[in-house]
Amino acid sequence: MSNNGSSNSLVLKVEDLVLYFRTTKGVVQAVDHVDFELAKNRAVVIIGESGCGKSSLAKGILRLLPRNVHTYTGRVYLEGQEIMGLDEETFRMKIRWVKMSLVPQAAMNALNPVLRVSDQVAEALLIHYPNVSKREAIERVREMFRYVGVPDSFLHRYPFELSGGMRQRVAIAMAMITRPPLIILDEPTSALDVLTQANIMNVLKQIKWETGTSYILITHDVATSSELADDVAVMYAGQVVEMSDAASFFKEPLHPYAKMLMAAVPKLRGDDDLEFIPGQPPSLLNPPKGCRFADRCPYRMAQCEINPPMFRVGDRKVRCWLYEKDADGIYGTHPEPLEQAHV
Ligand code: SF4
Repeated sequence: MSNNGSSNSLVLKVEDLVLYFRTTKGVVQAVDHVDFELAKNRAVVIIGESGCGKSSLAKGILRLLPRNVHTYTGRVYLEGQEIMGLDEETFRMKIRWVKMSLVPQAAMNALNPVLRVSDQVAEALLIHYPNVSKREAIERVREMFRYVGVPDSFLHRYPFELSGGMRQRVAIAMAMITRPPLIILDEPTSALDVLTQANIMNVLKQIKWETGTSYILITHDVATSSELADDVAVMYAGQVVEMSDAASFFKEPLHPYAKMLMAAVPKLRGDDDLEFIPGQPPSLLNPPKGCRFADRCPYRMAQCEINPPMFRVGDRKVRCWLYEKDADGIYGTHPEPLEQAHV
């Protein structure tokens, strides 16, 4: 990889991204020095509890920032081009919706109720490509609707005439209409029934396979997203605490929080008791100086009062002192859980 963040194989590289918000109670450290990379034609699933910074990370990458931003620093490279330094007009016309687009949370409710769905989807194309005629744009919408499984007969309907699942497909078509290399999906199936969730995941898989689009999929629904994931990033209290390929992660998560998160996912087979993670995440108004998971971690030790860096474990990365190698190259200094550390 070159030192300007470019690599032929990467669609996105995020370096040291910081996003803090000003609130009446103080400064919320929503995204705290986050690094990650995404290769082309891959899907990274970002998982973590509500409020861990997943959606803020998406906003930071897309520069969709509310007015109460306190700090916004770092570097974001899209297909090798650094985009955080671009002026707002260039970003709006050349990057957002052209090179990376968003399927926002509750996207199906975000459609304009008084516009036909075809016109709404076409608009995203017409704004960024003034040379495209309205007729050509509608043809492209028809093509995109076929991709995502919206029947032709729905083309000129209003959002209220479509089911939740169909509206979500329209939102995905809107994100795809300019054929961006990267789509960020924020909880794309959370308001849908289980069958519709599975259908939407299949649509996303098919699109990725046929078009080479890369995804960042933000979710708290580990089970549904596992079908689509090539890579997994686990966020906790504003930080990425584990990055791994999906196969290794689902076989054996490394970070204590990730292990507990996975143990809390309902299984289809087996009668294992579901576990839960005791305690609460720390407030992001004043997060602990050391490991942010320490208050809930059964492996906590004295060293955890210092914020751990990311350690490499093969091709994986984990932010936990258990994975610091000792002088003999052995991982972990305290392999047994400390029961008394439970809160
Ligand atoms: Fe954090 Fe320490 Fe637990 Fe690792 S062992 S997750 S560093 S408290």
